[in-house]
Amino acid sequence: MLKQFKADLHIHTCLSPCSELQMAPSTIVKTASEKRLNIIAITDHNSAENVIAAKKAAESTGLTVLAGMEVTTNEEVHILAIFDDIEDVLKLQDVVYENLLHIENNSPDFLIPPHPPLTKGGWGDLKGGIGGFNQVVVNEKNEVLSFNNRLLIAATQLTAYSVVDTIHSLGGLAIASHIDREVFGIISHLGFIPLDLKLDALEISPNTPLEKAKKIFDEYSHIPWITSSDAHHLNDIGKVSTGFLMHDSTFEELCMAIKGVDGRKVIL
Ligand SMILES: [Zn+2]
Ligand SMILES: [Zn+2]
Repeated sequence: MLKQFKADLHIHTCLSPCSELQMAPSTIVKTASEKRLNIIAITDHNSAENVIAAKKAAESTGLTVLAGMEVTTNEEVHILAIFDDIEDVLKLQDVVYENLLHIENNSPDFLIPPHPPLTKGGWGDLKGGIGGFNQVVVNEKNEVLSFNNRLLIAATQLTAYSVVDTIHSLGGLAIASHIDREVFGIISHLGFIPLDLKLDALEISPNTPLEKAKKIFDEYSHIPWITSSDAHHLNDIGKVSTGFLMHDSTFEELCMAIKGVDGRKVIL
């Protein structure tokens, strides 16, 4: 029987330099469950190192956690990659890491505020909500495992075409992030969405009401649309979401809903 499931497919953790530190995977899972979401995707910038913790934290909760990443292309376009399995997103991560600038996140060449004092193995000062820049890898118990020192916020050397192709070759969904945004949105950076770029869906950010988006982006109505929160703060999780009419809250069903197979569909 077809049922409607609620999904927020764009959530950052404390691994993203622009996210608040309270965005630990287990806290995200708890918050998403409280907000009655059925499916979430963890989509950190150019990395998937907190996906394992989120998947583990969601075991026996009934919440489906998909393994994702938000890749920055060399055109400075953000593309969401969504997979079922951790192994697949980690293969994409290998490709992304090979194509990231080899500058450390705390390099004096890259101007960022100094890191607050942090202690490996415990949250320490993290609870204070210092926010950002630390790129914290944690386990499902919110314990700090390491700090990722790559410059995750930077663009990769991969084109939008190669990112989409790589995602598809690994069995994932490729979704253009926040197409309505000037910064890192595909339309503002490329001028349009190329017809031969095989995107599975387009995301409208919470900044643009759907009715308005329908008028502005009418020419792209042949590609399925989703809305997601792009949460960097706990309060934003599930702020907007997408309904999927399908049989179960699985990645396979989600893919079929996006393609409109046998009555499954996206409900906005
Ligand atoms: Zn983005
Ligand atoms: Zn994002």
